[in-house]
Amino acid sequence: MEIMLEAQDFIMNTGVEQKIIGHAPRAIYDAVVKKLHMLEDMMSFYREKSETTRLNRQAGKEAVKLSSEMMFVLEQAQTVASLSQNAFHILLAPLVQLWRNAGARNQMPSQDEIHRVLTLCGSDNLVLDKATGTAYLKQEGAMIDLGAIGKGFAADICCDLYKELGASSAFVNLGGNVKTLGTRPDGKPWMVGLQHPDKARGNSYGAILCTDQSVVTSGAYERYQVIDGRKYHHIISGQTGHPSESDLKSVTVIADHSIQADALSTAAFVLGLKKGADLIYNTSCTGAVFFTAANEIYLTKGMKPFFRLAEQVKCYEI
Ligand code: ADP
Ligand code: MG
Repeated sequence: MEIMLEAQDFIMNTGVEQKIIGHAPRAIYDAVVKKLHMLEDMMSFYREKSETTRLNRQAGKEAVKLSSEMMFVLEQAQTVASLSQNAFHILLAPLVQLWRNAGARNQMPSQDEIHRVLTLCGSDNLVLDKATGTAYLKQEGAMIDLGAIGKGFAADICCDLYKELGASSAFVNLGGNVKTLGTRPDGKPWMVGLQHPDKARGNSYGAILCTDQSVVTSGAYERYQVIDGRKYHHIISGQTGHPSESDLKSVTVIADHSIQADALSTAAFVLGLKKGADLIYNTSCTGAVFFTAANEIYLTKGMKPFFRLAEQVKCYEI
């Protein structure tokens, strides 16, 4: 008989919610949790021994041999960086750190500091050599940060494991990165609620019907710093060096691969409604849902059958 296991954990600095349906879901769950810890050890910006830290430490010095999984993430990151004209790129870490520290000190960074740090954030700093499986950061002080793509990659790996280890269906939510295997046990699509950006957690403005797909949301509302009583969210514009000034409150991307949906949702948030939609149309994604600063909702073409609106908000196609 098949049973459903439901679990909540905290891994990769975020809540991880899983539902696994199968004959022996406990063994699958154990394998997935173990793998998630390994991925955290591999990608974490803060862990001494992570591949990220090894690469960052050798910036300006030498190329570093990386695992094939890490190389894959870096290659995908470069693809989305070039597709998005660097609205998304993983070399903004010095700026991310600057703003994080500013929040901790409750003191705005000076314009001088921002300009100085920006010179370390060129997207062309990272050079990958697929043949040797090595990566090199050209400039001393340059750093990578996989915060906007790592959870997506991890969600893909979870689903690979669910499948490989015999789950008949499964659902994982890694801090807003959802991916599903198959349908719910009753044969209906999984429903993924879309958090209302202005309401308490758990209040959704709509939902995505999701079968064998990933649904990822980026927004300005969940992670932010408060400096001098003003909120500064955690998605940075590499052009200004400041938190990006988006005409969106959130954007949700639906795609086969969560790594793609994760990176693209961050990119589309930075680009805003019009350019963000253009970006999505340029990819193989299923589509996107935009929640604008004016509290309107825009769906890319083809999304209507997968979208349910829960609230009386204006909804358009873009
Ligand atoms: P979350 O991880 O909160 O779901 P995102 O996927 O949008 O949200 O990732 C945001 C994280 O990515 C930030 O905390 C930071 O580490 C990093 N980051 C910030 N701005 C950018 C950007 N423009 N491109 C790539 N990564 C970014
Ligand atoms: Mg992201």
